[in-house]
This record gives sequence, structure tokens and C-alpha cells, in this order.
Amino acid sequence: MLVANGGGPQPMPGNLRAMQAVARASRFAPHVGPGGQVSLGAEPAGRVETGLLALLLVIRDAQREGTWQRLKACGNPDCRWAFYDRSHSRAGAWCDMATCGNRIKNRRLRQRQR
Ligand SMILES: [Zn+2]
Repeated sequence: MLVANGGGPQPMPGNLRAMQAVARASRFAPHVGPGGQVSLGAEPAGRVETGLLALLLVIRDAQREGTWQRLKACGNPDCRWAFYDRSHSRAGAWCDMATCGNRIKNRRLRQRQR
């Protein structure tokens, strides 16, 4: 999904099976706070699946808020670190320009020069 956010291919349906299984294995737990704030959590506590479901909720919130597309996988195939694209243009492609960005740009320049 983060590769797709960076302009790469969309995940294949089979790539999402693990996330879908996590969503099915746990329960959502809505909660109303003392000030009337409604939140959604995951149950039962203490299970790995519950933690993963909480991560799915974070993804859902980011997708609703429009920040999800900024979470990307680094464009350097040797890196693939996840990073948050803070660029104004939302066109960031590297986890770090000084390392991955320059490395890939220099590699492409050498290929063009050959
Ligand atoms: Zn990188």
C-alpha cells in the first residue's frame, strides 16, 4: 500500500489477505468519553491481532483525514523504508534525499551517461 502511495503499483488482492484476516479476527470497540468524544478501539486487549487491528484503525483515520497518501515506501528499491512525505508538492519519493535520493539520482545519471 505504501509503494502504491509512492506512485508504484496498487497492491494485488492477495497482498491484502493478512490485513483482511486481522480485521475479521478482532472486534471493534466503540467508546464514549466523559466529554462525549466517540472513539473506536480494538478488543480483546493484549493480543497481537488486537494491536494489528488498532493499526488498521490508524490507517482508516489517515485515509479519512487525507494524510494516508503521504505515507510512502522509499523509492529506492534497496531501501523501502516507510516515510511521511512532508513536501509541499506531495511528490517526495525518498526516505532521505541525502542518502537514498542522491544515490538513485547518481545511479540514473551514470546509466544515462553510458
Ligand atoms: Zn530510503
